[in-house]
Amino acid sequence: PELILSGIQPTGSPHIGNFLGALSKWVSLQRTAHDSVTLLYPIVDLHALTIPRDPEQLKKSKIETAIVLLACGIDPARSYIFEQSRIPAHTELAWLFNCITPMGWLSRMTQWKLKLKTNSQFSEDEVLSFSGLCLGLFSYPVLQAADILLYKATHVPIGDDQVQHLELTRDIAQMFNKMYHQNVFPLPLSITTSAKRIMSLYDPSKKMSKSDPENTRINLSDPPTIIAEKIKKSTSDSLKYITYDPETRPAIANLVTIYATMQGITIDQVVAEHGKSDIKTFKDALTQVLVEKLSPIQEEIQRLRLEQGYVQQVLKNGAEKASMIAENNLDEIRSIVGLK
Ligand code: ATP
Ligand code: MG
Repeated sequence: PELILSGIQPTGSPHIGNFLGALSKWVSLQRTAHDSVTLLYPIVDLHALTIPRDPEQLKKSKIETAIVLLACGIDPARSYIFEQSRIPAHTELAWLFNCITPMGWLSRMTQWKLKLKTNSQFSEDEVLSFSGLCLGLFSYPVLQAADILLYKATHVPIGDDQVQHLELTRDIAQMFNKMYHQNVFPLPLSITTSAKRIMSLYDPSKKMSKSDPENTRINLSDPPTIIAEKIKKSTSDSLKYITYDPETRPAIANLVTIYATMQGITIDQVVAEHGKSDIKTFKDALTQVLVEKLSPIQEEIQRLRLEQGYVQQVLKNGAEKASMIAENNLDEIRSIVGLK
């Protein structure tokens, strides 16, 4: 049986990168996946703790993330949203995987290497003794493998930045299957969208991220004035017309991609329509598209913010459903490894 799973960190307000790279797919799968396919969308709060968090802020972010998912069109009658930490099986399976995953696999993860590199003025030993680089951050992809394999997920709709982690998940699954001579875990496949990597509005060599400063991204909940301001101030270049050239004009190419995918048209159509526009005119048109497309989502966000009881109930139901699958699978895994 197929099972689709994908997570989001409660690390701030979801942005258009999350939406175009992942959430829009989560929503459309509700229509395109067969009824027999289970859809699970955990809010991965344990992952969020790999970087120090204010406890009250974390709680608020979890509710806000759930609200945004519902506002984007996640239907709780079809998909299950839940808090990862409500299901202790995630951490138990992560431990079992920690016991078989070679450290070399984790040191090769691009996201880990980027963390090391930002402190490149220090020696590796010095860097590794910083409290900011904790063990949890290093083994983060192992917990992610546990999130996915705990449910024997077959497909994982994610943005480009998570593809390497999913490959690691497959490697761990394969290693476990081989070690215990059983076909316990299917090897999950990634599903990506046409906008699999939306870049930062400030630095087009970096992906747009929740954990970067406000002006680098458009949040799904940003009001029109903020959207206008962020797009106006976004990095551009001094060329006159609009073209799509990610190599030489990465900032403009990113804006063109956002325009095309928000509007549901092709890159060529955007260039045909706006090729003769100057950058200011194009940015105004992009602002208009964003304001228009985000407005129905924002109305829902406003409405759901007043329905916290309902949102809590959705999360509780989601956790109950997920827990049944998780406990059942973990039971099988416990006996395979000899814990039971
Ligand atoms: P953080 O900075 O806290 O890691 P994030 O913006 O990277 O936040 P995640 O919660 O880590 O968001 O990821 C949620 C989903 O959104 C993942 O599937 C991820 O691949 C996807 N995603 C994140 N950023 C982008 C982006 N810039 N473009 C496309 N997809 C993205
Ligand atoms: Mg991320």
